[in-house]
Amino acid sequence: MELIKEINWSTNKGLGAALLLLGGATMVAVLAIQWDYFMKWSWYLFPILPIMIVLHEALHGYLFWRWSGKVKFGYLTSTAGPAFYAASPGCYFTRNRFIAICLAPQLLTIICLSLFFLVPLPDLAKFGLLGTAALNLGGGVGDFYVTWILLKQPRSAQVEDNIKGVRIYA
Ligand SMILES: [Zn+2]
Repeated sequence: MELIKEINWSTNKGLGAALLLLGGATMVAVLAIQWDYFMKWSWYLFPILPIMIVLHEALHGYLFWRWSGKVKFGYLTSTAGPAFYAASPGCYFTRNRFIAICLAPQLLTIICLSLFFLVPLPDLAKFGLLGTAALNLGGGVGDFYVTWILLKQPRSAQVEDNIKGVRIYA
């Protein structure tokens, strides 16, 4: 196998800055769906964040585990700042499976926004759903970036997450 593309979270400063900006803008855009809730309860985002991180990484981790039999959770410092991760270093996945791994946490965004729009709930509960969706979607910009890069690679490509970044082989 030959390395055809590498994404490195610990060295690419331009990418880190771009993802940070894009992630922040995405969070604001989702919170703006009901901005008065944010003005009233913004500090609730602090307890929501760890819950969202656990669910987000569990969804990545489930598919990593399902398709490789192993998964590792941890914490790293990327050029976009500190980040939690789930990965199976040393394991290779087909392009489409890796895209599924990247997008799996967005199931949480879909569930939260569906409940927000479709189910009558108390305002604070609705803010909890919107806040979770905002942090999860904004926090997923790196996942969307990897998905976008992978879509440009051949279907037969093999993908490894070595924690520092993503390596694509053909
Ligand atoms: Zn993620």
